[in-house]
Amino acid sequence: MKEKIRKFALPIVLFIIFETVAISLWLSLDDIFYLFNFSYIGTAIALGTGLMIANHKNGRRVTQLLVGMYMMLYLGIISNENMQIEGFWYYLFIGVFEAATIHYAVAKIFGPLLFGRGWCGYACWTAMILDFLPYKKPYTHERKKIGWLRYVLFIISLIFVSSLFLAKVGNIERIMLISFIVGNILYYTLGIFLAISFKDNRAFCKYLCPITVFLKPMSYFSLLRVKCDKEKCISCGLCKKVCPMDVDVLDNSRKRKNGTECILCFECKKNCPKGAL
Ligand code: SF4
Ligand code: SF4
Ligand code: SF4
Repeated sequence: MKEKIRKFALPIVLFIIFETVAISLWLSLDDIFYLFNFSYIGTAIALGTGLMIANHKNGRRVTQLLVGMYMMLYLGIISNENMQIEGFWYYLFIGVFEAATIHYAVAKIFGPLLFGRGWCGYACWTAMILDFLPYKKPYTHERKKIGWLRYVLFIISLIFVSSLFLAKVGNIERIMLISFIVGNILYYTLGIFLAISFKDNRAFCKYLCPITVFLKPMSYFSLLRVKCDKEKCISCGLCKKVCPMDVDVLDNSRKRKNGTECILCFECKKNCPKGAL
């Protein structure tokens, strides 16, 4: 029994962390939604990581689908919360600490200090669809020089929402819902187009996603990281070959190539023949 608890310590700890957030927000904001929301997400994450530890090949995908679908369909479309970056600006400008701002604070701004780009590996509803495409390993690990496009999208989203406020447009809530639906259609279209063009499911994440403007610098300091045990490594290169984000996982320094792109999918670890990761 002790052995089993030790083996599944990570999902247990993750569940406890989410439950603590759930109860704290429920009591401090006096809104039971937060208890349901974070308990659900914590359960989905604990279930997926538990399955991964038990060597189930679809463990990560289980969490990704449970969380991604919930965020997009329930929070986004049914509850009218624009969870895209425009929604974050919107709630920030009106000074409301609600789902979108809390979501950004937890998953994309402060959370990455702890769990890096875990959001990108286990919860993002854009990647949830893109990961169904056939290019799981990028065709080439050479990056195109178009990463600056993410800053363009980031600035456009900020200008778009600021303009609505400056022009005193009425019923911004409705515009936010429409922009959530249109934005998602646009992201999926661009994501699928880039994936097919570059033969890389995660091309959208590498070049276009505006959220990486937050995610990349914060995950540089991530506590949770994949590290290489040089004593065990035989330099076979398999880990780098299977990495969807082209991370130089053999370099343990924080400055490793594409280090801020790791989505903690553990494909490298799964494929390492020597258990060096
Ligand atoms: S980089 Fe953007 S699109 Fe890709 S998984 Fe992360 S948040 Fe989602
Ligand atoms: S394969 Fe390894 S280094 Fe690459 S993204 Fe996944 S966990 Fe990170
Ligand atoms: S797969 Fe394992 S043994 Fe091979 S290079 Fe990577 S860490 Fe080293």
